[in-house]
Amino acid sequence: MDTQIKSFQVGDAWRSGQDGEHVIVSINPADGSIAGKVARATPEDVDNAVAVAWDAFRNQPWRRLRPDQRATTLYEIGRRILLEKDALARLQMADSGKPLKECVNMVTSAAGHFRYYAAVCETWQNEVTSPRGEYFSLALAEPFGVVACITPWNSPIMNEAQKAAPALAAGNAVLIKPSEETPQLAIELARICAEAGLPQGLLTVLPGLGEDVGAALVKHPGVRMVSFTGGTETGRVIGSIAGQRLIPVGLELGGKSPHIVFEDADFDKAVAGVASGIFGSAGQSCVAGSRLFVQKSIYPRFIEALVERTRAIRVGMPDDPGTEMGPLVSRAHRDKVAAYVDLARQEGGKVLIGGGLPEAPELANGWFYMPTVIDGLSNKARACQEEIFGPVLVALPFEDEADVITQGNDTVFGLAAGMWTGDYARAWRVARELDAGSVWINTYKQSHIATPFGGFKDSGIGREKGLHGLRLYSQVKSLYWGMHEKPLSL
Ligand code: NAD
Repeated sequence: MDTQIKSFQVGDAWRSGQDGEHVIVSINPADGSIAGKVARATPEDVDNAVAVAWDAFRNQPWRRLRPDQRATTLYEIGRRILLEKDALARLQMADSGKPLKECVNMVTSAAGHFRYYAAVCETWQNEVTSPRGEYFSLALAEPFGVVACITPWNSPIMNEAQKAAPALAAGNAVLIKPSEETPQLAIELARICAEAGLPQGLLTVLPGLGEDVGAALVKHPGVRMVSFTGGTETGRVIGSIAGQRLIPVGLELGGKSPHIVFEDADFDKAVAGVASGIFGSAGQSCVAGSRLFVQKSIYPRFIEALVERTRAIRVGMPDDPGTEMGPLVSRAHRDKVAAYVDLARQEGGKVLIGGGLPEAPELANGWFYMPTVIDGLSNKARACQEEIFGPVLVALPFEDEADVITQGNDTVFGLAAGMWTGDYARAWRVARELDAGSVWINTYKQSHIATPFGGFKDSGIGREKGLHGLRLYSQVKSLYWGMHEKPLSL
């Protein structure tokens, strides 16, 4: 792997990571090798980047371009991402440890975000409102100016595209702070945007730490809106600062999603769906179905089949096409996941499968953890209430609809939920009662750019994707245009 230090650009200035500047070293989670090095931004870079972004917002024609002209650049960014799909996916695999096929999907999805918001940009309609007098009234979507986008490590490039594409489509200048665990893809995205013709200063990537660069962005008086994806506690801190500053935030936070199996479900599809819902991405997914609820009448048979499916999961190196589950993102994160499984044991849980590291010697240098199923806990246990963000499933039996709705909603989170049932009327009833921003019925973890995404309760504020995605990065300006025949009276 090329370990040359990747530079980032703020206006005309480049930060190379040379001459005593700080550097972020990204470690490949699959084998502990160096995946790449990136120059590290500082809070001073934030000051410069905000000034450059405002200059670009005010003085570049971007926000005043016709929508089809802005769209042309967004389409071009999407096209160029796809041209580099394989190289970007391999870089992402090295940074994050995700299986290659998942990385290819994520890069493809990032390109799709730019294409979609190019189309939204071209077809967006402002509102003509019904007047109540001799004037013409309009509601227009206006950009905020400079927006900051802060992203986590679990879906690099896709998360950045999910924010940057609509924010740019809305006419803003964008500052991105990617996760320090996976900083490389955002830098490549900035390069691609520049090569596609996006004017300088409209998108700047600041690869820094959360506590200094991230915090400086959120507090900076020049940042007029913050879009954050990450953990709930970080989101709470960011939301408090934004509240003090009276600026809008989009918060996409954590989850502890209930995955429900009724006795009338298609048994085999439900087993496969539950396994895929938690063990895909090694459980490092905000929407992972991490709490399994199975109706009592089928509980023993279902758990037995699920344990067998879990046993068959191919844990392996991310570049092996047969691999179903790769490593966790870092040693610290794997230790945290392992500590939760120990806690579950102390809380009285029974580990039915997994609960440790793999035995295969070729996986010994990476941060792998075996897919784990635990039962015997109450929904009140910490392992059932706190986000583990790893390949750990807790299984609980339930009596009936009322019981599973109560238990399913008994969490501070409300990001997603899933259910398997043959009864469409029950699916409708239960889906309406669950506190969740997305509910999957006889499927799980499906997601696409045209459907809004976000959380209830402590899982977030606001919606990304779809037309909601553009609204998040716009503020409404109402315009009254007088048509009076006579002068106004008092
Ligand atoms: P994290 O909250 O630790 O970090 C996310 C980002 O915030 C990183 O870039 C980090 O550097 C930055 N950050 C940290 N402290 C900050 C501060 N004080 N001010 C500003 N920025 C700060 O999250 P993570 O560990 O990178 O990601 C995992 C979490 O993300 C999980 O909780 C997961 O559920 C959540 N997530 C949510 C969604 C969603 O759409 N709801 C999607 C993916 C991940």
